[in-house]
Amino acid sequence: MGASLDEVLAIAPIEKPKDLIGIQIGKEFFDFQSKVTASGEAQLITLSSDSPEARAMYRHSYSHVLAQAVRRLFPKAKLAIGPATSDGFYYDFDVERPFTPDDLEAITEEMKKIVKEGYKFERSYVSIEEARRMLKEKDEIYKLELLEEFAERGEEISFYKDGDFVDMCKGPHVPTTNEVKNFKLLGIAGAYWRGSEKNKMLQRIYGTAFLNKEDLKEYLWQLEEAKKRDHRKLGKELDLFSINQEEVGAGLILWHPKGGLIRHLIEEHCKAQHLKGGYEFVYTPHIGRSTLWETSGHLDFYKEGMYPALELEGEQYYLKPMNCPFHCHIYKSDIRSYRDLPYRFAEWGTVYRYERSGTLHGLTRVRGMTQDDAHLFCRADQMPAEMDKVLDFSLNLLRDFGLDKFKLYLSTRPEKRVGDESKWDAAEKALQESLDRSGLEYSINEADGAFYGPKIDICINDALKREWQLSTIQFDFNLPERFNLRYIGEDGKEHQPYMLHRALLGSMERFFGVLLEHLGGNFPVWLAPVQAIILPITDKHTEYAQGLHDRLKDAGLRIILDDSSNTLNKRIRNAQKQKTPFMLIVGDEEVSNSEVTVRLRTGENLKDKSVENFLSYARERIVKREAI
Ligand SMILES: [Zn+2]
Ligand SMILES: [Zn+2]
Repeated sequence: MGASLDEVLAIAPIEKPKDLIGIQIGKEFFDFQSKVTASGEAQLITLSSDSPEARAMYRHSYSHVLAQAVRRLFPKAKLAIGPATSDGFYYDFDVERPFTPDDLEAITEEMKKIVKEGYKFERSYVSIEEARRMLKEKDEIYKLELLEEFAERGEEISFYKDGDFVDMCKGPHVPTTNEVKNFKLLGIAGAYWRGSEKNKMLQRIYGTAFLNKEDLKEYLWQLEEAKKRDHRKLGKELDLFSINQEEVGAGLILWHPKGGLIRHLIEEHCKAQHLKGGYEFVYTPHIGRSTLWETSGHLDFYKEGMYPALELEGEQYYLKPMNCPFHCHIYKSDIRSYRDLPYRFAEWGTVYRYERSGTLHGLTRVRGMTQDDAHLFCRADQMPAEMDKVLDFSLNLLRDFGLDKFKLYLSTRPEKRVGDESKWDAAEKALQESLDRSGLEYSINEADGAFYGPKIDICINDALKREWQLSTIQFDFNLPERFNLRYIGEDGKEHQPYMLHRALLGSMERFFGVLLEHLGGNFPVWLAPVQAIILPITDKHTEYAQGLHDRLKDAGLRIILDDSSNTLNKRIRNAQKQKTPFMLIVGDEEVSNSEVTVRLRTGENLKDKSVENFLSYARERIVKREAI
């Protein structure tokens, strides 16, 4: 039997802060009324620290308040589960009819009352028999199912009571229902009991809560904005790509001409940078014999991620889930000398991976994708310089797309691993020192590296402050061994090179989806599929407009003329919907002065009406890859 937190605090030489809501020992969290069973150094969780633990504690407490409100309004509702999530909380109910938006409002009002009434969360420990009796009395079939599992695992059973409401729960919770006052119910969704289609569909109400009103407001703005910027929605509106699950297949992307053009421009820029950075382009097939995937170990370690085999002339072929084995063979195709290292093989390689259909999501989770992949082979003494180069290269490339809020992570050796300790030491050191030299902040994910090598992940924060992982720089001690990669050293002996995998944008699909949401579809001038649109006010201005169109087109702008019969306002609205950077409007004045009125996507007009000056304005933005 453990002690309660109050008892721990009574004997521990720590001062109890006013807003203390709980305690963390190791990986476990406890509230005031928990029996503290874990051992180790105790850390206090205060409400105002607004740590993930504190958030989880008050958000989960709100799920009790939610259930309490639902019970008051729908006495027959049966309770399932109500956890905190990374940005809110939910509770699943079994109710006679689905909840409506009106219900949500009524529930919100009831919750406000419960918050105001300020009940204490009181915990009581009960025997299994007693718990069974209590739950049976209320016919809580879902809780009974959970109870039997807890009992089987020999866990202690506790109930929390706040006012007129009692719920079986392990906690922890904040001390009272009015600790935090800023919550919002966000929606209703169907959810199968335990996530299985074989079970009954329950009604999930989800919401969120924040310590500060401003944080809640910002979060709600982000949610609204994220909906508007959803890349699947923008992809359709701007005619960039589509997915035809029924006929083409799930997770396979069709790039339309405008999306294809943007992708081409992204690739063109990146490839030019790669050539400048000393990379050499290689091309490898989409399929490879089973023997290749046996050597590489993919059939041992990655088979669930691969498409099934294709049979041909008694041999089996697999679609490639990765490009590395092919690049290893290119390395192996000749005797390599220490003088020729490093090799940097780059390929826009299209790979196919099996992802469960339920996890597929627009462009960000797909089954067919093209990586901006490269494999580096170098000597030990070249590692620090190569690391600096590749890290710098990656950050600069992301900056070119306006992504400059980085978060870096170094993942170090896991318990189960291959490769000499000395190699792990050297590689981890090279990665860490390179991160130090970059001057950027980074976190270390201890023991989180792959079994074959340590890595750096580069994440970016987008305009909505969401974190996306894009670049990975990954050492590999496994493939050089499996493919027996060697080079002849200065000593005339054979040595194994260090091998690095790196994908900087990640995959073109995912990067495009992230960029689309980050920009809200407002591609900078250098990437906009249509950079300018000419809008003659009436028919009599069309001839001049056509001439202007041809002149600017010859000058290299991606420009179109809209002389359709729609009103000028309608044509402007269309151009705005398409997020065209420049709208060039021509009427009587512009024709007689050989000028142009330039309206920017942002709604402002350029003061200068000279065509030449507009052209240099546009060119400057293109060259500098600037937004307008
Ligand atoms: Zn609870
Ligand atoms: Zn690779």
